[in-house]
Amino acid sequence: MATLDLLGNWKRAQYAGDLRAAHADQEVTLMGWVHRRRDLGNIIFIDLRDRGGLVQLVFNKEFAPAAHARAEELRSEYVIAVQGRVSRRQKPNPELPSGEVEVLVSELRILNTAKTPPFVIEEEVNASEETRLHYRYLDLRRSHLQQNIALRHKIFLEIRRTLNELGFYEIETPMLTRSTPEGARDYLVPSRVHHGQFYALPQSPQMFKQLLMIGGLDRYFQLVRCFRDEDLRADRQPEFTQLDLEMSFPTQDAVFGVIEQVMVRACAVAGIDVKAPFRQMDYREAIRRYGIDKPDLRFGMELHEVTEHFRAAGEKLHLQGSVQAFAAPGAAAFSRKQLDELADQAKGLGARGLYTVKVTSEGATSQLEKLLAAASVQNIVAATGATAGDLIVAVSAAEQIPGADAAALIAGQLRLALADRLNLVPKNRWEFLWLTGFPLFEWSLSEKRWVPAQHPFTGIREEDLHKLESAPQEVRSKGYDLVLNGSELGSGSIRIHSQELQARVFELLGLNAEQRRQRFGFFLDALTYGTPPHGGIALGLDRVTALLAGEKSLREVIAFPKTQTAADPLTDAPTEVGEAQLRELHIRVRPPQP
Ligand code: ASP
Repeated sequence: MATLDLLGNWKRAQYAGDLRAAHADQEVTLMGWVHRRRDLGNIIFIDLRDRGGLVQLVFNKEFAPAAHARAEELRSEYVIAVQGRVSRRQKPNPELPSGEVEVLVSELRILNTAKTPPFVIEEEVNASEETRLHYRYLDLRRSHLQQNIALRHKIFLEIRRTLNELGFYEIETPMLTRSTPEGARDYLVPSRVHHGQFYALPQSPQMFKQLLMIGGLDRYFQLVRCFRDEDLRADRQPEFTQLDLEMSFPTQDAVFGVIEQVMVRACAVAGIDVKAPFRQMDYREAIRRYGIDKPDLRFGMELHEVTEHFRAAGEKLHLQGSVQAFAAPGAAAFSRKQLDELADQAKGLGARGLYTVKVTSEGATSQLEKLLAAASVQNIVAATGATAGDLIVAVSAAEQIPGADAAALIAGQLRLALADRLNLVPKNRWEFLWLTGFPLFEWSLSEKRWVPAQHPFTGIREEDLHKLESAPQEVRSKGYDLVLNGSELGSGSIRIHSQELQARVFELLGLNAEQRRQRFGFFLDALTYGTPPHGGIALGLDRVTALLAGEKSLREVIAFPKTQTAADPLTDAPTEVGEAQLRELHIRVRPPQP
């Protein structure tokens, strides 16, 4: 084991990875980790790594014998400090940003040793995610995570700058609070002082930000941690960061304008040029044209209703509901096997039938010709606008959710899957979209009743108010979503600001007067003391950062993320706690129920 040196009074003026040809002939002091070592006898090369990247160090036995001798002791991930002279390389390394130079070391200080890491600190790691998260501090040394964390910082800073310029105050709201209904389970924190009582960690600061508007603060934002105990789907984290924002006296366009400025500038720091205003689309139009409430507009393949052209075969095919079709460019060449896979996928999504038409320069061919007149097949081709090389994919499905076009929703999923498979999604396009006109309620398949599509503070379109009790499914909200490239970045709304209407909504949700008082009394009271019209939005910043960084997983842009099972392999949280701690909290843990 190497003996260690002290850092002494050495000071560092730049990062190793920042050295360029312009630094040639300068004396520099560098500090960092041994990334790689090549020992050629009289010369030892070390790639030194720090937050700025890598630079090559040269230890020359003739030029600096003492430093060279010490360099023989270096191993991967040792921590060192060096002084030396920057020199132009005879053979530049185009792979490295600092590759035009190297540093001829005159003095080396070994500041710390390191055990051999469980995986090599390289761009490509083949360690499992579990191992990477267990040793996250080593994983974080990899340059792409370093870049993602840096990008995250820059985006957050730019958001703060933008909102400050627009007159917003950043205001913190409590973490130990009571539950806000955002549709997920709460994380609860038992109170020691108040026997048998619990705080909830915020699912969002929704009620607090509305109270800030009642409190006259006019424009609020916060980059805030929120907690939702959900069964984790692929791309969720139990704790996540939102840009939460609220403003008084806003029109919908005013909220959009603020967020557009925020996003344009956030994209700019990621080197992405986008233009405001963003497109807007009504929810029903999105379902009709794309079969989804967060359409990816980077490619076409729009849906077309072709129900009428299937009429002749309606009985034979046991059709129910609509038939929705789209043309998939290039897929006319699909093999039998690929078509079968597509049909299986459609069945898996709940389709009753999947029908295809191959369009080639010789014309259209389809198994449908046995069931439909040639003219009907031609009509389907015309309706979808298919041209030679396209495969028309038509879906039929029976209604699953009242009022929802099941065929459109399934076709929408197939559209996404096929575009991905056919490589039709341009990677460098950035399509922002506002969605509006959402229904206030959505049907809960599990509970078999109408539940609020968003949280219960969402405003209601005045023209639909009279149907609130009589035809709730027809009522549209003042909610909106922001979508980027088919991912929902966040949602918000113009809020309810009248106590009467708010109480009516709670009632509709099945809360009796007593429950309303008990759970939301403080909020309903506040609404009676001169509440300004207000509205806002919350954007998921982990997702924003992941998209702008080109990452698929949120875990790649969070320093210390959790796994799919909401665990942290680094600290081993969650853990059991000792009896004494539980006793103080008046809690007894029951053995797991069979
Ligand atoms: N509180 C909502 C959410 O977290 C957003 C909003 O309505 O502002 O999703």
